[in-house]
Amino acid sequence: MTVNIEELLAKVPTGLLIGDSWRDAGAGETFTVENPATGETIATLASATSDDAMAALDAACAVQDEWARTSARERSDILRRAFDLVHERAEEFATLMTLEMGKPIAEARGEVTYGAEYLRWFSEEAVRDYGRYAPTPEGNLRMITVRKPVGPCLLITPWNFPLAMATRKIAPAVAAGCTMVLKPAKLTPLTSQYFAQTMLDAGLPAGVLNVVSSSSASGISSPIMADPRLRKVSFTGSTPVGKTLMKAAADNVLRTSMELGGNAPFLVFADADLDEAVEGAMGAKMRNIGEACTAANRFIVHESVAEEFAAKFAERIADLTVGNGLDEGVTVGPLVEEKARDSVASLVDDALASGARAVAGGKKVDGPGYFYEPTVLIDVPADARVVQEEIFGPVAPVITFNTEEEAIKLANSTEYGLASYVFSGDPNRMWRLSDGLEFGLMGFNSGVISNAAAPFGGVKQSGLGREGGAEGLDEYTTVQYIGIRDPYKK
Ligand code: NAD
Repeated sequence: MTVNIEELLAKVPTGLLIGDSWRDAGAGETFTVENPATGETIATLASATSDDAMAALDAACAVQDEWARTSARERSDILRRAFDLVHERAEEFATLMTLEMGKPIAEARGEVTYGAEYLRWFSEEAVRDYGRYAPTPEGNLRMITVRKPVGPCLLITPWNFPLAMATRKIAPAVAAGCTMVLKPAKLTPLTSQYFAQTMLDAGLPAGVLNVVSSSSASGISSPIMADPRLRKVSFTGSTPVGKTLMKAAADNVLRTSMELGGNAPFLVFADADLDEAVEGAMGAKMRNIGEACTAANRFIVHESVAEEFAAKFAERIADLTVGNGLDEGVTVGPLVEEKARDSVASLVDDALASGARAVAGGKKVDGPGYFYEPTVLIDVPADARVVQEEIFGPVAPVITFNTEEEAIKLANSTEYGLASYVFSGDPNRMWRLSDGLEFGLMGFNSGVISNAAAPFGGVKQSGLGREGGAEGLDEYTTVQYIGIRDPYKK
């Protein structure tokens, strides 16, 4: 199905969703959204102010009790209808994501499938929000535990997966019976705006989900987080912003879920199937133009196979096509903005200046748009910035190791702990590596492991809490214990 872009953009609400209606910002302010493949403005949206943020929180608080009393089945049915609607509108969502974020349309279609799975998964989990029963060991009380919605939540999402990062938070919040204020990233708000309308179309009652897109992130988060009615903040984004929000959350002792940055190691052992490893590397590195928190950031390869791995990887990378993600056949889109492209360029330039060699790519691509060549670097010093910092671009630095112990040490030598990948033909190594690696996720002979049924989240400075899986619902519930005097005990 080909989507008419003008007609699609006309369908996307441009206002703020507060209670039962889309409205203009109180101060009449607006901000624009750009297509990173062309630099052109594609939409103008209302930019919420602090007063709008508080109106959104008022709307969420007004319906929290009533929403919490709806049956799990009602909430489950809404999520299931939303899942069906997202699939009906799949090509529209995919086109919107490519337009505002730049990812190739085939990958945007993949994100629609992946993002929608959270709706289906949590429609199924909604009805499994179990408590438990037990007598106390002394026999004096009978204990029941009840899970309740945590209460009104502030959800803040990043730009790199505009649909999936929203559904990962909204679906479990709906399943648990929480109301929400969503603040999407200002670079990619259109997908969230259209998704919020889709939730309303699926029957979500007014006030449960409020959306305050804005050019001022802290102008939204600060007043909402200072209000004692808010009970939780769920944030996906960079570690420095996550730390700021955790400090603000302390004042009201808010529940927090923090999905922060990563610096994923991709380990290739000498006994790995190298073709499989290269295939895995393509997924772990090049998916989403490298702009993923799970993106392989450091290729740590056994010294006996490093040259061969890098050569095969460079060969596969030479087949990629850089261009506007809307063009079928393009496999690498632009970076999300000029600043992002320049930051990738500076990491590569720094590595080249300290002795690294580019066996593929290594340069910016002329505009319009913010493109960077898919790049493989070898002979990279282990302390180079490109190895130490989150790259967020299509650049693969390769470093080498000799022993398994050394590989684990190199992999763990980061303050981050989100995704890790291991390629090896030895199944016993899987257990040793999963014991040794300090990461919330480990892919074994697989470069893409995100799944709605799996608990996604990090350790160390990659964050707190889990999204997806049964654990994803826990994040939006609180446990109440009821102790009942045992009638037979005097
Ligand atoms: P970012 O931290 O700049 O922004 C994320 C969100 O926070 C946006 O909505 C932004 O407007 C908002 N924000 C920015 N400053 C804020 C402030 N002071 N107060 C309140 N909100 C603020 O991150 P980004 O550039 O949008 O996303 C990239 C980062 O996100 C990377 O570090 C990446 O690793 C991380 N990420 C993590 C996961 C995960 O699940 N762990 C998933 C995707 C992205």
